[in-house]
Amino acid sequence: MSATVEPSSPHVMNTYGRLPIALSHGQGCRVWDTNGRAYIDGLGGIAVNTLGHNHPELVPALQDQLSKIIHSCNYYHVPGQEALATKLTELSGLTNAFFCSTGLEANEAAIKLARKFGHDKGIERPEIVVYEHAFHGRSIATLSATGNPKIQKGFGPLVEGFIRVPLNDIEALKQATEGNPNVVAVFFEAIQGEGGIHPMAIDYMKQVRALCDQRDWLMMIDEVQCGMGRTGKWFAHQWAGILPDVMPLAKGLGSGVPIGAVVAGPRAAHIFGPGNHGTTFGGNPLAMRAGNETIRIMEEQKLLENAATVGAHIKASLLNEFEGMSGVKDVRGQGLMIGIELDRPCGVILNRACDAGLLLSVTADSVIRLVPPLILTIAEADEIIAILVPLVKTFLAEPAP
Ligand SMILES: *Cc1c(COP(=O)(O)O)cnc(C)c1O
Repeated sequence: MSATVEPSSPHVMNTYGRLPIALSHGQGCRVWDTNGRAYIDGLGGIAVNTLGHNHPELVPALQDQLSKIIHSCNYYHVPGQEALATKLTELSGLTNAFFCSTGLEANEAAIKLARKFGHDKGIERPEIVVYEHAFHGRSIATLSATGNPKIQKGFGPLVEGFIRVPLNDIEALKQATEGNPNVVAVFFEAIQGEGGIHPMAIDYMKQVRALCDQRDWLMMIDEVQCGMGRTGKWFAHQWAGILPDVMPLAKGLGSGVPIGAVVAGPRAAHIFGPGNHGTTFGGNPLAMRAGNETIRIMEEQKLLENAATVGAHIKASLLNEFEGMSGVKDVRGQGLMIGIELDRPCGVILNRACDAGLLLSVTADSVIRLVPPLILTIAEADEIIAILVPLVKTFLAEPAP
């Protein structure tokens, strides 16, 4: 069963199945459509709106920035880049950042870093280990790294140089790379987002770190969705107490203003030199202000703690509500990144939730995903649960189509 969707406008390319509403404005974790109907936001613009909507400190800061300078360009120093890079290296334990505007760009930069890391040590045809069900973006290189044939179909030939392995299986990783001198990096999401909220096990991340050290590979962790405080730590891999060599970020970093970053540790921070990489919009003063203010407000308002507490409350409530229900296969995730896996495709839940005043998404066909703003309160979490639980129970009681 797939979701019913509106045809796109005749002049917008038809690349998305869209719900038949348009959002006009929001306040906190609530948004309104152009007909004045209110919704509770369990999706946060797909893990983007960290501070919700119309945040009383973010908006004036952005207005101030708009009136000073929006874009300068990377011919000149950008003080906001210096500030945000310093902050991101403090939070991550890494050393240097490059700024871009989206998640796929951050991942492209990571892939280029890994390849040049190989070339610099004489590997002519570098290969990167990637994962089943991974999602890294929709450029030709990042869709080649993505582990979803539906996203790749029609866009071949794919970029070569990727080796695919299953999650959480260190023996499979060792076997797939056995005797291969061309491997330069292992690249994964700490918690897979689009692939269905699949976490990498803490022990597995530690084992991969050790293997990368032994074999001189870069450990590259895509934190585009699970990073920026969503799981209750700044970055989801920090639950394993490890340091990656390369960490792409985007989505929640600017609370809605387009921004991406690739943060690197000592082994990867000096691979690029002048002329090796660049982007026109990357690191512009508006995006940097958004990133710096987002982090400042997150710290001031203790949003990591909030994500952990409210996320744990949602997970416990869902586990309690769904206990013993045969159609619910799993409730998983960490902090405010939660997946409810059903035993059947459930795209229609998206439409029904929207009709009932709740925004969420369904990913990997059968996983209901909640990635709300990190300012979500317990009372708002309870509103989400009160709408979602009966919808799921009704859906599971229906005969299969
Ligand atoms: C969304 C996402 C991307 C792609 O980000 P875009 O900004 O859409 O290019 C890459 N990796 C992960 C893990 C994501 O969730």
